Amino acid sequence: MAKNATPSETVSIDSPDKSRTVNPGEKRHLEHEIGENYLSQSVKMPVTVINGDQPGPRLFLSAAVHGNEINGVRVLQRVADRYEPNEIHGVLVCIHVANVPGYEAEERYLPIYDRDLNRSFPGLSSGSEASRMAKAIYDQFIGPCDFGLDFHSSTRNKLALMHARADMDDDGVSRLVDAFGSELVLSGGGSEGSLRREATKDDVPTATIEMGEEDRFQPVLIERAVGGVENVMAAHDMLPETEPESSGFLKVLEDGGEKQWLRADTGGLVEMKWGPHPIVDGGETVCVISDHFTREKRVVEAPYTGLLIGILANPRALPGRPLFHLVKLSEDEREAAKSTFEDIGFQAQRTFHWMGEAGDDIVESTLDAGEEAGEREPEEK
Ligand SMILES: [Zn+2]
Repeated sequence: MAKNATPSETVSIDSPDKSRTVNPGEKRHLEHEIGENYLSQSVKMPVTVINGDQPGPRLFLSAAVHGNEINGVRVLQRVADRYEPNEIHGVLVCIHVANVPGYEAEERYLPIYDRDLNRSFPGLSSGSEASRMAKAIYDQFIGPCDFGLDFHSSTRNKLALMHARADMDDDGVSRLVDAFGSELVLSGGGSEGSLRREATKDDVPTATIEMGEEDRFQPVLIERAVGGVENVMAAHDMLPETEPESSGFLKVLEDGGEKQWLRADTGGLVEMKWGPHPIVDGGETVCVISDHFTREKRVVEAPYTGLLIGILANPRALPGRPLFHLVKLSEDEREAAKSTFEDIGFQAQRTFHWMGEAGDDIVESTLDAGEEAGEREPEEK
């Protein structure tokens, strides 16, 4: 897409094989070439461009920059299906799957050499395969936008509490995250080469939304993210019919703020003890690690009152393995967190097969309620 094209103008997209246009009032699903495979065939990235009837800002959404982080893929499928050009002012760009080779291989990185697409932006046309792919995506779809959201999930075998990673010192980013809504924001510039850092530096305020686990669709989180996108569009005058809601944060943790990984000191089997909400008090037992003969039990305690924002999903521990990512909370924040989770129902964000015993009654009542409603498997609406 050309930068500086005035809104309500035709959006032009160039790729090696062809140029395409999306006129005002048009919605197009594109397969955009971002590279080639070993068979000299085009690698094509699915993108939806919705060019509103009326002028307005340009918002990009991207998912699966890490190929196995797919909650965002469902978010974008839903968002791209939801809006028509006559409803929006400006342009909405949905990059459904950015890292196509990683997505096909169900891997985080670009396969073979394990290159991280999210350390390769804005890319270089004479660079590595990751760098060239990043450039093909960035030049056509990111650079020409006014702001954006990049959807991720937690890495290997961890459950991440939904949160934003964003440079809250940037006014555009802070406005964006404020509209999206997030209990927790980890504020900072981000890693070099990451989409959000490079785009923000390039005057395209961008935030990363971390949600749930890899290789999963988690309906409650997806629903929240679809609502968050709607609120972002409303707050930036892209949806004239919709009043933006104010969201507000529970906590913005600045770079260098107090958080830490609690790690296992022993090998064995992990039994979770936290719950029902991901809030722990100083000295509270968060989990117990035992050997197979149950001869030895090692208790892992919370060093301070805080919020568990990352939780091990693999129940086997080794010395040094990260178990929990803990963010310190003040007393006031603890109370606010508790009432927030009572409101939003944290149990639905958790993985049913891996819950602390304090959550068992909640699982049962959730499953019972589902059975009564005739839907044992939770389905997103
Ligand atoms: Zn990621």
